[in-house]
Formats: sequence, structure tokens, C-alpha cells
Amino acid sequence: MKINDNYKNLNESYLFSTIAKKVNDFSLKNPDTKIIKLGIGDVTLPLCSAVIEAMHNAVDEMSKKETFKGYGPEQGYDFLKEVIQGYYKKNNVTLDMNEIFISDGAKSDLGNILDLFGQDNTVLIPDPVYPVYVDTNVMAGRKIVYINANEENDFLPLPDNSVNSDIIYICSPNNPTGAVYNREQLKKWVDYALEKKSIILFDSAYESFIDDNNLPKSIYEIENAKKCAIEFCSFSKTAGFTGTRCGYTIVPNELSFDGMKLNKMWLRRQTTKFNGVPYIVQKGAAAVFTESGQKQIKENLDYYKQNAKVIAGTLDKLNIKYTGGKNSPYIWLKCPDNMNSWDFFDLLLTKIGVVGTPGAGFGKNGNNWFRLTSFNTNEKTKEAMERFYKLFKT
Ligand code: PLP
Repeated sequence: MKINDNYKNLNESYLFSTIAKKVNDFSLKNPDTKIIKLGIGDVTLPLCSAVIEAMHNAVDEMSKKETFKGYGPEQGYDFLKEVIQGYYKKNNVTLDMNEIFISDGAKSDLGNILDLFGQDNTVLIPDPVYPVYVDTNVMAGRKIVYINANEENDFLPLPDNSVNSDIIYICSPNNPTGAVYNREQLKKWVDYALEKKSIILFDSAYESFIDDNNLPKSIYEIENAKKCAIEFCSFSKTAGFTGTRCGYTIVPNELSFDGMKLNKMWLRRQTTKFNGVPYIVQKGAAAVFTESGQKQIKENLDYYKQNAKVIAGTLDKLNIKYTGGKNSPYIWLKCPDNMNSWDFFDLLLTKIGVVGTPGAGFGKNGNNWFRLTSFNTNEKTKEAMERFYKLFKT
């Protein structure tokens, strides 16, 4: 028996364990300091009542012979796909029902989609990045080319025609930088992908944080994107489903490589290796799109957006450079005096008891940058930023 040797090439992820250890050590030595965590990448508000009610009803259906559900369609129930189709329609994107695949979240599908692609493809990944894109390709032994996302390009790198690539990752709004591509910039990526006959894997997990109507929420708002892009989206941040698990992946019928339709391949892959998302969860997800569901998730999103505003407002007052904060739950700030991001982490922890995430954990271009998130409470975020302001105002 031989193991998959590629696993030996994975970098051990010390980021969150190192943060936890540092916070723990500090708390033991300074029990009176009230620590505030602005490094949280998970939602903190509960599921909204429309979702809870729909899931309760679905549980009741499971209890009766007449309405009990066994295996469902692997690609999701029509009742959920129809409301997703309607949601895209609002942004003038027309999807066929068979292009929508319900998943248990974006992370699984971002990894699983790689089943469709050959091993010797070159993968283009921005740095800094959501680490899942890197690790899933390292596991498969693919060659990775990094493109720099940095201060010069406002963390929104554009394609370089001299670089060849087959699989391109784009995440907008971005984790960790909070940066969001506009239409013209995304069009450049679509044109590049079409010219190079590459595929774009577009991660729109944070699309519901976009308030600016001029910014695209879906790559399919760009002409011809259906010929070169797969889109991954999630109810995790939109509706607090991080623990409930539901997402969706769009694989357009137009996508064809080597005479094979990716939509058909993905259907084959899913019907072979996946047995669908629980009926109860899909009922909850569908309730997100009802009038009351939309109103309720907006209240929750507005709550987080208020935190983002407080963080961004403080950085504005201090003249500290950052990206994100608008149209995104993440704020990516430049460490004052060009400090190393781990030194900055230690400074915030020891001087003001505030915890964030060092940018170095997301790639080399994050070495002097730092991620704050808007998922804590309004009160704690406000207090953390008051402490932050006092520390840096001199
Ligand atoms: N994509 C990005 C950029 C994320 O930051 C996350 C979660 O943090 C995910 C995908 C995963 O989403 P899900 O909970 O749907 O698996």
C-alpha cells in the first residue's frame, strides 16, 4: 500500500493553533485583562426565525409516513434550486435548473471540483489567499503559480498575459483582504480565461456583504463568464449556516473542454460520491429567500456591517491604510511602522487585549498586514476599537 505522497508537501497550518496558544498563555498571566477577539471567521448570530420555523416544519414532515423523505436528489431539491434561480434572476443572471447543484457548503465543493481536472494542470492562486485553494491542489500534486495581491494593486491582481495557467482561483469579496473586484476587472479575468482556455473557480461566499450595486455579486454578471467559470456560494455567512451546512455550486451547461461537458461530469461525480444535503437543511435554506427570511438575514448582515464600519472608521481616523470594511466582513490593515504581522499581533494582545489574525498566515504578501473581522458583538467591537484608537493616536 502506497500513500498519496503529496500529503508530505502540505505545510503544517500553525496559524490558528499558534494564536490560541498565545492568547491562552497571555490570559493565564493576565487574568484581569478582558480579551476581545476580532479574529473570528465564524458567524455569531443565531439562525433567523424564518429558517428555524421552516426546519421545525420539515422535522414534523419527517415524523409522518405521508411526508417522510428518504434519499433526495443528489443535486438538491427543486424547491431550493428554484429560489436560487430566482435570486440570480434579480441580478440579471439566467440559470438553468440543471446548472444549480446544492452542496453541504462551499468548502467541500471547492475541494471536490478538482476531481474533474487533470493532474498536470497549472493552477493560478493569488497570495494572500484562503488556504483551502492551495492545500487541495497540493494534495493532488498540481503545480501552483502565485500571483501577487499587494498594496500596489489594491490586493486585486489582474491577469498577466505572459503567465499561462489552466485553473484560476478568484475570491470576491476576498478572504482575507476584503477587496472586491469591479465589473471591468472581472471582465479582464474572463477575457484572459477564454483566451487561455482556462477555467475560473469563482468563490462568492461573501457576496451578500456587497451593498454597492455597481459591484458584481456573481461572475455570471460578466458577459461570456458562463463559458469559462464555475461559481461557489454558501449560506454560511449569508444566513449563519456555518454549523447547519448548505451551499450551492453553479456549473454552466456551456462549459466544455476536450469535448466533455463539465456540467455532465459534475452531475456524474456528485451522483456517484454524494448523497445530497439533508431535506431539513434544504427547507431551512429555501426559507432564506422568502420575504421574511430576506428581511431577517438583512438585519443580521447589517449588524455585522455596523461592526465593519466601526473598525474602518477607527482606521480612517488614525490614517491607517486598509482594504475591505465596505462590501465585506473583513478589514485588512497595514501594520503601523511596517511592523511584522506577528509582532503586531503580540502588540495588540499584550497592550490592549485585542486579538486579530496575522496576515502572514495567508501568504507572504500578508507579512505586514493584519485581518480584523466584523463577527463579534457591536459592544465588544466598539470597545476593542476604542482601545485600538487610544493605543495608536499618539
Ligand atoms: N470560501 C471562503 C473564501 C471562505 O472564507 C469560507 C469560509 O470561511 C468558505 C469558502 C467556506 O464556506 P462553507 O462554510 O460554505 O464551507
